[in-house]
Amino acid sequence: MIGNTVRFSTRLVDWYRANRRELPWRVDRGTPSPYYVLVSEAMLQQTQVATAKPYFLRFIERFPTLAALASAEPQEVLRLWQGLGYYSRARNLHTTAQIVTAKYAGVIPSQVDLLMELPGIGRYTAGAIASLAFDRRAAVLDGNVIRVLCRVDAIQEDPRRPDVRKRLWQRAEQLLPDEGAGDFNSGLMELGATICTPRSAKCMGCPVQRHCQAFAAGMQDRIPAVQARKVRPIERRWTLCLRCHQKWLIEQRPTNGRWAGMWQFLTIEAGRGRPTAQQIGKRTGLDVTTPQPLGRIKHDLTHRRYEFEVFVCQVSGHPVKRPADGTVWASLLDLSDYPLPRPHLRIADMLRQRSSTPKGQVR
Ligand code: SF4
Repeated sequence: MIGNTVRFSTRLVDWYRANRRELPWRVDRGTPSPYYVLVSEAMLQQTQVATAKPYFLRFIERFPTLAALASAEPQEVLRLWQGLGYYSRARNLHTTAQIVTAKYAGVIPSQVDLLMELPGIGRYTAGAIASLAFDRRAAVLDGNVIRVLCRVDAIQEDPRRPDVRKRLWQRAEQLLPDEGAGDFNSGLMELGATICTPRSAKCMGCPVQRHCQAFAAGMQDRIPAVQARKVRPIERRWTLCLRCHQKWLIEQRPTNGRWAGMWQFLTIEAGRGRPTAQQIGKRTGLDVTTPQPLGRIKHDLTHRRYEFEVFVCQVSGHPVKRPADGTVWASLLDLSDYPLPRPHLRIADMLRQRSSTPKGQVR
């Protein structure tokens, strides 16, 4: 960094206070509610601010307090998280609310070490809650902060390296002012999100430009170094939409692993060719017509990609077959009562579109 660290902090905080974005989890001239910070930080992991905003508003409307969240049904929490992805965040948030209620009489702790004992709260989130909600002198280091600090100090090494990461944490702690740590951390994150962006940083409008080594050397576009993205394996699945009269068969996923406890149309590992009625009959015990292709859905996650080939078939029988354990028959309208992962929400939309045109009605 060029120049004095106190001036750096002051310039950043002044800029933040004058320019911060209006976000539903922030309050005007005051410390945000710890509960709002807890919920928003859970939502903002892996998620853009614009995407998280409507989810946050819906979530807070339904669970306005930590106590309301603690006493909620797990399925309802998942349903409000539906579409946001990374559902372990919702489960951890729910468990955290229950632990805070039982162990801390409903008061979210302000100490980083106690916060880090709660499920899903790592060093970054603990620092964010402690500083943003309690103005404690605790550092944060997320993707935006890493980029800003790497540029300000002209760090050219890979910030994912443990030694570089350790150095960045030390730097984030060293730069914290004695007072106003919350606004300082928010300022660093806001600067990374709005000015010191990954591409085409707006250095001419940057409040800490005179401290920035990367800008002085004209290297801001090359820091941090762009890393080659790892090849993500593709997992192929067949999704089987079984219909009996006006209802569709959905199953609940296991309580562990990806999309734990959520609901989906029957999904199996894809094989060669197409699924057959015999295969489906063997798996479900149901007598079905030959599966008809409905479409293909791709779903990318950080470490893997999914491809769902979707088929529709009709189950014979009257009335609706009694569902096996862990499955239910639901109308397209009733599906909104169940938390569905995003690919299955899209499949439900495909079914709605198909059934809204007489020609496309599934028989
Ligand atoms: S001067 Fe440019 S590169 Fe440096 S911190 Fe500001 S926006 Fe980022």
